[in-house]
Amino acid sequence: MPTFDDFDFHAHSSVSDGLLRPGEVVRWAQTRGTRWFALTDHDDVRGLQEARAVAAELGIGFVNGVEISIEWQRLPIHIVGLGFDAGHPGLCAGLAAIRDGRQERARRMGAAFADIGIPGVLAGALKYAENPELISRAHFARYLVEIGLFRETGKVFEHYLTPGKPGYVEHRWPDLAQALAWIRAAGGVAVVAHPGRYALSGQDMLRFLAEFRAAGGQAIEVACGSHTPEHIRHFTRLARQLGLHASRGSDFHAPGDCERLAPLPDSLEPVWALLKLPESSLSS
Ligand code: AMP
Ligand code: MN
Ligand code: MN
Ligand code: MN
Repeated sequence: MPTFDDFDFHAHSSVSDGLLRPGEVVRWAQTRGTRWFALTDHDDVRGLQEARAVAAELGIGFVNGVEISIEWQRLPIHIVGLGFDAGHPGLCAGLAAIRDGRQERARRMGAAFADIGIPGVLAGALKYAENPELISRAHFARYLVEIGLFRETGKVFEHYLTPGKPGYVEHRWPDLAQALAWIRAAGGVAVVAHPGRYALSGQDMLRFLAEFRAAGGQAIEVACGSHTPEHIRHFTRLARQLGLHASRGSDFHAPGDCERLAPLPDSLEPVWALLKLPESSLSS
């Protein structure tokens, strides 16, 4: 069984918008003492096989993961799925549809940049997308750094690519019920990713979490790369109040991210209690 500080159930590879190959992400996880790991690429499960093979070599417990892009009341939200059958046709078809939508959005983003006098941005972003089906705003941000707009991607997101800023285009993602139906049909557990990052205030957050639970959602990330100690205290209270299990994840994308990940508070029910973990794959 994992403990409250040796599992990381949220990380990205170059199958989505991370910089390392799936196997390299598992090696990175091992160097920081992770013993149970889930790769959770955005809207794609095609890195899981390689990651699982490297985890087996290293004696790390591996859990299938994915981070599904959805919207709730037009607000983009991310739902992590864990422990599902990665070959499930319904889940795979749902993810493929999201990837089609991403490609169509990317073309509109390229056109939006051309309209403001910056041509070639789609082709430039695609150079950074190892998986061309999974084109993300992060790939656009990397290209905008390359052409000298800003020195780092964080700055790009302050001035471009977000609502009200140049290069942002409206997009429709699947709804909460659809994503949860895919995860559950594939035998997985649904987790709200980084709840501290959404523009959801007290009552709205409670309504969202109630809907999430009613649709079969079971957990929220309490400890994660983007959460402050105050977020951790807040979502610990909410998890206990609403009877949700708790997950922990770095949201790793690139070396240097999330140097230190807080342990999960031990007053919580850990998400791994809901998963069938392969005890035998772990080295001692
Ligand atoms: P997308 O899913 O294509 O809309 O892109 C969202 C991705 O962009 C996230 O998963 C992050 O990897 C990245 N991202 C979003 N906001 C920021 C930010 N403020 N700074 C750096 N990366 C960001
Ligand atoms: Mn990302
Ligand atoms: Mn996310
Ligand atoms: Mn993520």
